[in-house]
Amino acid sequence: MDGIIDVHAHLGKVIYGYPPLTVEKLLSFMDAHDIEWSVILPLVHPEEEDYYYTTEQALADCALHADRLIPFANIDPRRSSNDGAYDFCPVLKEYADQGCRGCGEFLCNLPTNDARMKGIYRACGQLGWPVVFDFRWQRTSGVLDPVGMPWLEECLLEFPETVFVGHGPAWWAEISADVTDEDKSGYPEGPVAPGGSIDRLLGQYPNLHADLSAGSGLNAFRRDVAYAREFVLKHAGKLMFGTDRFVREEDPEMIRVLREMALPADVEYAVFRGNAERMLGL
Ligand SMILES: [Zn+2]
Repeated sequence: MDGIIDVHAHLGKVIYGYPPLTVEKLLSFMDAHDIEWSVILPLVHPEEEDYYYTTEQALADCALHADRLIPFANIDPRRSSNDGAYDFCPVLKEYADQGCRGCGEFLCNLPTNDARMKGIYRACGQLGWPVVFDFRWQRTSGVLDPVGMPWLEECLLEFPETVFVGHGPAWWAEISADVTDEDKSGYPEGPVAPGGSIDRLLGQYPNLHADLSAGSGLNAFRRDVAYAREFVLKHAGKLMFGTDRFVREEDPEMIRVLREMALPADVEYAVFRGNAERMLGL
């Protein structure tokens, strides 16, 4: 098959004391794992990192390898004294004209339905862009949504033209119907109770997708591989492979987990490539 698309990758120096993720290192990692394209997500929210990796840096890095790297834009919803009325469209449109194909990931510690965040969803809907979230709960970084993801659901209804891409601990803990506040801020173990909120929301809202990246995605699948296989089959048109290598340079174990599920060929293709291709307009 055509190479894998990683919809959740990072570059640059972001955490003090760790070596920067360079373009050269990323390309050799991609070559080693049959990853043809990587989406580069800038990191610009002060809650999460010691350094920023800006949209301008992503555009510059991706321009040198336009056949392998796809830039996203990112922005802080609190900029320009945004009181909820700020129009993000002109600034994001400039980034779109320069080659960006989406927005995120959002790590600001604001509720999903904060009026300042809604300005971003509105602009991304106008641009036809997906928005990528790292959902957290009872933490000091990441976008906040309580048990059941009610604030996300409010926004899915309010912005039907905007594609929302879920990821992160407070998202993946919701795979299980018995999720607790504590689960949402960690990596819960044990069998999944069917009927979790993300199962319902992915089934109900065409504008909701998810990426499988990071320890949170891996944990959600490994805690109950049999349920995870059913989840992938059910939401085969909504799930996208991603890595989220951030400060460590571990191998993408999710590739092995997915392959061991022995999924039908069309489902495997959709998750590794087809859904991302469609979302990115490749
Ligand atoms: Zn990330």
